[in-house]
Amino acid sequence: MAIEVMDRTLVASIRNQREIQPDLDALGFAASKLWNVGRWTCDRVWSETGLIPDEGDLKSYLKTHERYADLHSQSSQRVLEELAEAFDSWKGKRRNGDSKANPPSYRKHTDDHPRSTVTFKQKGFKVDTKFGRVRLSKGKNLKECWSDFILCDIEARPDVDLEDVKSVQQVRAVWNASSSKWELHLVCKVEVEIPETPGENTVGVDLGVTNFAALAYEGGHAELYPLNCLKQDDYYHSKHIARCDDSASDRATRLNAKKSNRRTHYFHVLSKHIVERCVEEDVGTIAIGDLGGIREDEDGDVKDWGIHGNLDLHSWAFDRFTRMLAYKANAEGISVERVSERNTSKSCSCCGRKRKANRVKRGLYVCDECGMVANADVNGAENIRQKVTPSLATDGGDRSNGWLAQPSTYLFDSESGCFAPQEHVGS
Ligand SMILES: [Zn+2]
Repeated sequence: MAIEVMDRTLVASIRNQREIQPDLDALGFAASKLWNVGRWTCDRVWSETGLIPDEGDLKSYLKTHERYADLHSQSSQRVLEELAEAFDSWKGKRRNGDSKANPPSYRKHTDDHPRSTVTFKQKGFKVDTKFGRVRLSKGKNLKECWSDFILCDIEARPDVDLEDVKSVQQVRAVWNASSSKWELHLVCKVEVEIPETPGENTVGVDLGVTNFAALAYEGGHAELYPLNCLKQDDYYHSKHIARCDDSASDRATRLNAKKSNRRTHYFHVLSKHIVERCVEEDVGTIAIGDLGGIREDEDGDVKDWGIHGNLDLHSWAFDRFTRMLAYKANAEGISVERVSERNTSKSCSCCGRKRKANRVKRGLYVCDECGMVANADVNGAENIRQKVTPSLATDGGDRSNGWLAQPSTYLFDSESGCFAPQEHVGS
């Protein structure tokens, strides 16, 4: 294994947007004002000396300026660095013969100041990944008697586990004009272990509503991940939500948030577990059914993604899981390919015969041509795998097809919080 340190920027949305927007606005406006003060200073120095001050000069000219104290000193420094960088880039363009390039402009939109990005460096922020909170420091001018900082409740993209985020280098508060919301960009160093040579095997993954995931490994081994605990968990929460008189009440909102957090947690643990299994099995490529396309059920109809056994899993949940899996697999050097699910539940993975007469009964797939009996989801997963590495399930001489009917089942063990073989999980 080689360890590589990579920079990554995670974009997080802010949950308590409404409470803290006035504070962030004040900082964003302050950054624009400081930029303009710096821009004006550059003009003056330029016209007197014919030179544009560099970032060091700008900082020493302006560090006692009143606008400098609107932001945390490191944030103010960054504004002036950006201004100096913008001038450098303009000078570079001029040197390269771009006579149309303009020097950096003032940040004004008619009479208003735009909301500039505010950068917070080491001393200006604190990240609590466990509780999803980021504390941002203000400048001394904007501190009110009761609050020296802004406390943001953040939520990362669904494919990111905040608890995996370590060593955040800086935080940027960025105004997203299209959603009219502030968001936080966390720039972090991530240590990624890259296998010297990723495995050569492939695995097929079939996602579904009974077995959330069925895996067929090239080596002739299959695994099932039923939705045991998630079903109970969802059922429990749905029942309590239904009992709330008012679906908009605090209690209902809290229960809904809890239900969704539990589900996210389940997806994270499962995707992590599958990637670990892939590393053990020397997998270099994961083929996963692309549920964005058409999926047929046993009768050849498009699958209904409605409510199944109290579990409202929709295609977006599978899409979200796929993105989580890809993110974690890529960090291990494993590639993830989405393949069309067309015919994957109909065809026999041993002889390739497309079912018309083949039967699916109680989760078993029986081929009328070659007599193969397989777990139906495993057969689907194996067909998905074969779309990446075309080789029938029994190719390779001594491989029999018995494994297709005898998958190992892994269950989520709520005691340990991990997936474990069924026989190790207490009832
Ligand atoms: Zn067959």
